Amino acid sequence: MKLDKSKRLYEEAVKLMPGGVSSPVRAVKPFPFYTAYAKGSKIVDVDGNEYIDYCLAYGPLILGHANPIVKQAIAEQLEKGWLYGTPIELEIEYAKLITKLYKSIEMVRFVNTGSEATMSALRLARGFTGRNKIVKIEGSFHGAHDAVLVKAGSGATTHGIPNSAGVPPDFVKNTLQVPFNDVEALADVVEKNRDDLACVIMEPVMGNSSLILPEEGYLKEVRKITEENDVLLIFDEVITGFRLALGGAQEYYGVEADITTLGKIAGGGLPIGIFGGKREIMEHVAPSGAVYQAGTFSGNPLSLTAGYTTVKFIIENKVLEKVNKTTEAIAKGIADQIEDSNLNYSIGRIASMFCVYFGETPRNYADALKLDKEKFVRFFWELLKEGVFFPPSQYECCFVSYAHSDEDVKKTIEAVGTCLRRS
Ligand SMILES: *Cc1c(COP(=O)(O)O)cnc(C)c1O
Repeated sequence: MKLDKSKRLYEEAVKLMPGGVSSPVRAVKPFPFYTAYAKGSKIVDVDGNEYIDYCLAYGPLILGHANPIVKQAIAEQLEKGWLYGTPIELEIEYAKLITKLYKSIEMVRFVNTGSEATMSALRLARGFTGRNKIVKIEGSFHGAHDAVLVKAGSGATTHGIPNSAGVPPDFVKNTLQVPFNDVEALADVVEKNRDDLACVIMEPVMGNSSLILPEEGYLKEVRKITEENDVLLIFDEVITGFRLALGGAQEYYGVEADITTLGKIAGGGLPIGIFGGKREIMEHVAPSGAVYQAGTFSGNPLSLTAGYTTVKFIIENKVLEKVNKTTEAIAKGIADQIEDSNLNYSIGRIASMFCVYFGETPRNYADALKLDKEKFVRFFWELLKEGVFFPPSQYECCFVSYAHSDEDVKKTIEAVGTCLRRS
């Protein structure tokens, strides 16, 4: 495989940007491929190699690249200008659509990224309850802001330790952690801290430590524990929103959160974050309440247009049914390949997300750490040579789009089989 031009570009980039990239996961060793363009299920690099894309920009592109309907909507908005700094009618339309799809959401605030949404949701939970502590799940990712950049595995009752330089320990001393799928650990921490505890925040399906599914009944127990102790529950549905179901993991599992964060698919490929919840909670956000939150680009017409058009498209074309079926076929094919190869690998899948585990299926972060991540990176490179692009880390999951064809599926299953044996 020829990657000369990508290599040259990367050598230039490392002199200008830390690690040569704008976000750490993209810094694949020895260098990442540089994209020239992308269309449908395919992404093409600057050396002319074409790959079937299962990274899909880490989640937002459920319709595939450059969907013509979304493109047309963005083009029409561009004609009318792309930033006003005033309210627009589409905010109301999109808010109506979201409050219809998510029973637990009565009001929303549009922001620019998932990170901003969780940062603001946590501030809101603290402002609403007047309490400081929060509980997060070990290995869950809620963006790159101080309160949630906490080292995992620090034990349920100990205070958080920052896992990034530049985060003062004081900033995370109120961030407690528990393992996923452990009802007892959560009940224990919540009960012990209930007088100081604002909320529990979690990804209902963990998508940033490989793919970790909630066990039967777990989320219902989480809801019960938080409710009984008068603690808010935040579901970070930045990945699962509009994916597991139109109403996200909450609809899929029949569990309602107090505050929900959305992003990724919600922006149709342009930057967005959304947080929302019951009116009595959301009324605490400025300017109607005392919890401050603001942004120059918030609710911008381009992101709202791309997001709204994408969600409408998903509804009108039964996109979730199709992508789920495609993903089921891929997962089944890969499961057969794993079985045939006699390797101790496994595969996890829910809706249009899947993950090939180099080891046993994890049920929490500690398990995920046992997976063979070096082998995964070798597998990633072997797959690229076969024209298939998986995210370059064992801790990311694969996504499937509306544009992926039966032929893509067939080719992918064969490539995965070949590369599993080679890695
Ligand atoms: C991607 C992600 C975020 C952060 O969203 P950005 O738009 O990258 O800031 C937050 N939470 C979860 C669960 C995510 O997967």
